[in-house]
Amino acid sequence: MRDIVIVGAGMAGLHTAEALRDAGFDGTVTLIGDEPHRPYSRPPLSKEVLTGKGTPKSLPLREDAAIDALGLDLRLGRRAERLLTDEKAVLLDDGARVDYDGLVIATGARARRPRTDLAGVHTLRSLEDAEAVRAAFTEPGGHVVVVGAGFIGSEVAASARACGWEVTLVEAEPTPLTRVVDPRIGTVLTDLHRDSGVDVRLGVGVTGFEGEGRVERVLLADGSAIEASLVVAGLGVELNTEWLAGSGVKLDEGGAVLCDAQVATTVPDVYAVGDLANWPHPRYGGRVRLEHWTNAGEQAVVAAHNLLAGESGTDRRDYTPVPYFWSDQYGMKIQLLGQAAPADTVEFVHGSPEDRKFVAFLGRSGQLIGVLGLRSTPKTMRYRALLEKPTAWDDALAAAGFSPRR
Ligand code: FAD
Repeated sequence: MRDIVIVGAGMAGLHTAEALRDAGFDGTVTLIGDEPHRPYSRPPLSKEVLTGKGTPKSLPLREDAAIDALGLDLRLGRRAERLLTDEKAVLLDDGARVDYDGLVIATGARARRPRTDLAGVHTLRSLEDAEAVRAAFTEPGGHVVVVGAGFIGSEVAASARACGWEVTLVEAEPTPLTRVVDPRIGTVLTDLHRDSGVDVRLGVGVTGFEGEGRVERVLLADGSAIEASLVVAGLGVELNTEWLAGSGVKLDEGGAVLCDAQVATTVPDVYAVGDLANWPHPRYGGRVRLEHWTNAGEQAVVAAHNLLAGESGTDRRDYTPVPYFWSDQYGMKIQLLGQAAPADTVEFVHGSPEDRKFVAFLGRSGQLIGVLGLRSTPKTMRYRALLEKPTAWDDALAAAGFSPRR
């Protein structure tokens, strides 16, 4: 294998390039990214960048010298438009054709946009998105309506309050993060917003936006309208996989790239990593796809290893991580190890929801499947080892020294 092409110059793409070099690969590594920037980190966008605490300087994933040392054929501001798997080539928007022996798909996701052309309605995925919202937040006395109380919407609400803006947070589900956390934890998060001065509207959807060229009002399904100087929508993502159409790389119904346990796609010598990869995880009873910063890095290392090992067909590794996600809201850190789902058994093994400081164990079918902590970093991370292998629920509780109240 002499030529490896990585499409997508984000977290997963950069880590793939680094892992290839770390493994001693000295052939050509071409890294293609449609953004004009060198790889940067997205988590600070909704946190430090919006509150003005982080300058773009704090964002690069690596210093220029470290990227230069990788000796990449770096093509920034260039979009991959087609993948020709029969010819092992990627076609770019400038007409260039890049041939490969091995390919890694790392084109991630984009924010889902609400249906409106009005100015002042934003989403948050790129540095430019964050700079536009930050510019608005520097004006005093504004009122932002945040649509969607997922992690990104919740962080935007917290950052807007830190900038002194009025905030209304609208969520169609009964609590924030309903699909991710137990309602008791969702209630803690709702109270966090409310105590910080956010007007939280739960169980009501947004039906439209009004204004003369620029958004002035957000219309809700209950017939009410909220005056707004800005809207930020946190409505989840769409995956950047359209360029794979007709390539033979199989996608699921949501557009994710279907991979095997070793993150290989359905086409030989083509791997997928990061937000767009869907692969079978033995501990979670099916396929998973993670929109987690840590996953993008860890999966890239396994894909690079397997791509190089693929030539000999030996020593390919399964990818079986302990998923990890964090979120910072109102100066508090929320951390999730493993998986969460609202129907799980939940036990608060340290602290309590009332204290707003806890470690909760999440269980399914008699097994520990997740650990969720609020303001409890060392205690939460201590339980990572329990998730590296199947751990019976009772054994997990015993490891935490917890006796269920009967
Ligand atoms: P991306 O970061 O999306 O990178 C993909 C790159 O490919 C992009 O630059 C894209 O423009 C480019 N691309 C797309 N199509 C093409 C094409 N056809 N040709 C060339 N290039 C293309 N995770 C956490 O765990 N904790 C957090 O606190 C957290 N906060 C976040 C805050 C924000 C605002 C956002 C947006 C995300 C956050 N995440 C967080 C998620 C985390 O950043 C992502 O999981 C991670 O960035 C995924 O990396 P990736 O490389 O798969 O995708």
